[in-house]
Amino acid sequence: MSIQALKGFKDILPDEVGIWQHIEATARDIFHRFGFTEIRVPILEKTELFARSIGEATDIVEKEMYSFSDRNGDSITMRPEGTASVLRSFIEHGLQAKLPVQRLYTIGPMFRHERPQKGRLRQFHQMSVEVLGLDHPRLDAELIAMGWLILEELGLTTTLQINSLGCPACRPAYKEALVAFLAGRKEHICEDCQRRSLSNPLRVLDCKSSHCQEQYVAAPAIIDHLCQGCADHFSQTKASLDLLAVPYTVNPFMVRGLDYYTRTTFELVTDALGAQSAVGAGGRYDGLVEQLGGAKNMPGIGFAMGMERLVLLLNQQNADGCPETTTDLFVAALGEEATVRAFPLVHLLRRKGLQVAMDLEGKSLKSQMKQADRAKARFALILGEEELTKGEAVLRDMTSKEQQQVPLAGPPEALCAILVAAVTRTEQ
Ligand SMILES: [Zn+2]
Ligand SMILES: [Zn+2]
Repeated sequence: MSIQALKGFKDILPDEVGIWQHIEATARDIFHRFGFTEIRVPILEKTELFARSIGEATDIVEKEMYSFSDRNGDSITMRPEGTASVLRSFIEHGLQAKLPVQRLYTIGPMFRHERPQKGRLRQFHQMSVEVLGLDHPRLDAELIAMGWLILEELGLTTTLQINSLGCPACRPAYKEALVAFLAGRKEHICEDCQRRSLSNPLRVLDCKSSHCQEQYVAAPAIIDHLCQGCADHFSQTKASLDLLAVPYTVNPFMVRGLDYYTRTTFELVTDALGAQSAVGAGGRYDGLVEQLGGAKNMPGIGFAMGMERLVLLLNQQNADGCPETTTDLFVAALGEEATVRAFPLVHLLRRKGLQVAMDLEGKSLKSQMKQADRAKARFALILGEEELTKGEAVLRDMTSKEQQQVPLAGPPEALCAILVAAVTRTEQ
């Protein structure tokens, strides 16, 4: 029996990969326009990193992490999200000393042991950004607008929901109000929520049970409990979004699945995949660097976009704007002598920058024309015994079917130059 991939793990096959590359290229281009540079961090980290950042009493840490002991008996985890690793690296390498405000992005796989469903895999991919060293609300709006722009340039329509989660100064009073509310509905909420109403009450608001959610409609809202500093930050964030003409709605019950968020949180939401789901989400995490052993008062904010959902959305819209893979030239050499002649010519053309394909075995013309069609070749160069005798090969435009003779005499560089000119001329 052949071996299959693990449940929730998926291959990205050659005919699917174009759309992934298109999304990544679009995002990278926009990240660079906004002054971000890439950082690449390891997939494996000490388990403690995620327990300390994401929070012990979260779904991710309690139920979903790929954690195990390595051969030395150390507890390690395959990263369930990107922020903790990027911040660990930021602190470890003292990046704030190099540049007071760091704008970083990373793209790669994340791992969570969830029930696999459409658009949700156990190995999934995120593009994420982090900005460290600035707490101005204009940055919150700039970052949200960047996420908005990525979706816009991909041709996707989403709605933006924002909220403020307050800060260590104002959240305790809100928690008290929430705990009091939950105590009154104890018998109407699930066991997880009952337990968390004591250990981590905010977390109950993102319980996945619809029964619980019905109860929480009447819950106190955190934006009614913000301190002056948080209220000002939130209203300035909204005003800055208005300046950038990015439309939003305030969702006072959005708490996100991670403990480290402070003040602004946001989600870019779509209903095109059935149930409402976020294609991008993030928020501010002003205390997190200190919590991970870095500098005090080191503000930070970031967001992540889920690649699988973007791929689903783009496929639904017929991959608008996604470039098709083509081949510039197929060199059809027939028979051994012609193939030996064509082999170094193809290498030379590739060195000159053309996408060239050839049949290494010199098969029949019929078979090679089929290969040229499959490769979506724009031109074919036909080189058989007859052409060798005449000293001229046939260059065929595969779209217009027009043919021209190209001389074979002289050094291969001369033929190469003619072919490069013919292929690039039609590109203008
Ligand atoms: Zn506050
Ligand atoms: Zn619940």
